[in-house]
Amino acid sequence: MNVIMLGAPGSGKGTQAERITEKYNIPHISTGDIFRENIKNGTELGKQAKAYMDKGELVPDEFVCDLVLDRIHQADCANGYVLDGFPRTLPQADIFDKALKDAGEKIDVAIFMNLSNEYLVQRMEGRRVCPKCGAGYHTTNMPPKVQGICDECGSELIQRKDDNIETFKNRLEVYDKETAPLVPHYEAQGIVVTIDGKKGLEPCWQDIVTALTKFE
Ligand SMILES: [Zn+2]
Repeated sequence: MNVIMLGAPGSGKGTQAERITEKYNIPHISTGDIFRENIKNGTELGKQAKAYMDKGELVPDEFVCDLVLDRIHQADCANGYVLDGFPRTLPQADIFDKALKDAGEKIDVAIFMNLSNEYLVQRMEGRRVCPKCGAGYHTTNMPPKVQGICDECGSELIQRKDDNIETFKNRLEVYDKETAPLVPHYEAQGIVVTIDGKKGLEPCWQDIVTALTKFE
């Protein structure tokens, strides 16, 4: 079963990808991991990747695609894989489509975690964490008993730095421009399964399992 995960940052696609990996025993593949592994192992692709990065050059789409192809043709992908974060743009998707076709392979299903940007921003804005014990809260979805105070240890709750709203909105803008067009791209191929992300982690997972049943 060859799967692509689609969805905005914060949509939970990484978490669901991990679950697919566990249930079906197929690897969860991200381009960042492939880059690191190839560089660490000193492979030919790794040397090329390092050369691009040392020169501060943008890595060409063809090269990223080569890295992904090399990875999905390794033995642990014999029963399939979950691609997370690739393709990231339409040009990458076109190159990948063609490479798969040339190899006589295909993507079976693209899981789209569908959530509006407004919802994602609201969810991000409400996140609070206890700096002392690490307990997580949400101002509307999971508020503490006393506003701003940790139920567990009584410390004052904070907003994490990486929950910075402006940074997150910028990431959503980039996603809308570069990555969101992948949804209609794969819809045209008839392989998109849209999951209503608002339902929450468990109901979404059940919907995904139901959708994947026919590819088992
Ligand atoms: Zn606490």
